[in-house]
Amino acid sequence: MSTQPVKQGATLGVLGGGQLARMWSHAAQSLGYRTAVLDPDPDSPAGLVSHTHIQTAYLDPHGLAQMASVCAAVSTEFENVPADALAQLQQQLPVAPGPEAVRVAQDRALEKAHFVRCGVPVAPHQVIQHAAELSQVPEDLLPGILKTTRLGYDGKGQVRVNTRGELAAGLTQLQNGDPGVVCILEKRLPLAAECSVVLARSADGQTVHLPLQTNVHRDGILAVTEVYDGALSPETTALALRCAYDIARQLNYVGVLCVEFFLLQDGALRQTLGPLVVNEIAPRPHNSGHHSIDSCDLSQFELQVRCMAGLPLTMPRLHSPCVMLNLLGDLWLRQGDTPVEPDWAQLLALPGVHLHLYGKTLAKRGRKMGHLTVTAADMAQARQVALQAAALLGIAPW
Ligand code: ATP
Ligand code: MG
Repeated sequence: MSTQPVKQGATLGVLGGGQLARMWSHAAQSLGYRTAVLDPDPDSPAGLVSHTHIQTAYLDPHGLAQMASVCAAVSTEFENVPADALAQLQQQLPVAPGPEAVRVAQDRALEKAHFVRCGVPVAPHQVIQHAAELSQVPEDLLPGILKTTRLGYDGKGQVRVNTRGELAAGLTQLQNGDPGVVCILEKRLPLAAECSVVLARSADGQTVHLPLQTNVHRDGILAVTEVYDGALSPETTALALRCAYDIARQLNYVGVLCVEFFLLQDGALRQTLGPLVVNEIAPRPHNSGHHSIDSCDLSQFELQVRCMAGLPLTMPRLHSPCVMLNLLGDLWLRQGDTPVEPDWAQLLALPGVHLHLYGKTLAKRGRKMGHLTVTAADMAQARQVALQAAALLGIAPW
């Protein structure tokens, strides 16, 4: 990457036009840049707010050529954009994160191998591709979760398996006739909680991070994130940060990276593995970091822009404890199959509510339509208001 920051007025680009790219575009534009989005969907949330929207497939040579000619630097907003598209762009302009890091994050087997290389704790696991390998699976990986190594998100591409019979059936189900689909069996761990670290690393290795987020998932989808000082013990916090920094450094990572962790319940596994294990990484801003727009003096999206543009990084400071609630399409479909817009005015009458809608026109169950962040002077207040907001929307308490 060049040592001179990208000049204001230049165009920064992103592969993928979903909500992450949309919030990234807002941050880039507020720092004085133009934005370009490559996404085949004419109504993509980020395409709607960017100066340039290139509507082609991610590997389309014309689309990539146009991206390279317009942009001063390029990033990606989701890991399932082919790493090859990034590799092609990297021959012509700075790309952050780089294709090699994205390649690792795209594949649970490569990802786990990287974690093991870094010496960070992970769930006991085994990669499985052929039914013939099933007899070699150790008994103590069951009950487990069988996951495809590629293209899973929001809990898709996963099955819970309790017995060897279910494991065999799970492999058949996930492969769905395609023997090229590789799976990984992870031991199902007794979770006390989940948390994540969002960090940002510059081309010269300077690294900063958001305060640790604690996360509640429902049906494999992030539902609630809470952020406040003292959420985890200083020892656990330090361990999570050390793991996250090691993972990023050993990937030569540039850009925003999220590292997801499981916190283990007391018991034998915690005795052997320690208080936490790394689950997975996302090579981009992450849903659990959305709160930073409203709760921190530097958001994950601005951090991504600064990394790409070669601008300085400073340590983000949490100025308000907060709760983030995801707004899934289900909230639009509470009265049947015809979507009804929730009553936002009623919600915005509550103090410290920050509403973010992603401009998606079609509400579907499980689809991320927006989020809201509740900030307050202290965590008790933030939680109280967030619970009120959840009750108004029909989101179950956590
Ligand atoms: P996303 O990319 O949206 O974070 P994903 O589809 O990649 O999700 P994971 O993060 O692997 O999937 O798993 C989703 C959720 O399932 C986790 O957040 C956790 O709640 C649960 N889970 C996954 N693996 C395990 C495990 N080994 N033991 C216990 N729970 C697990
Ligand atoms: Mg996950």
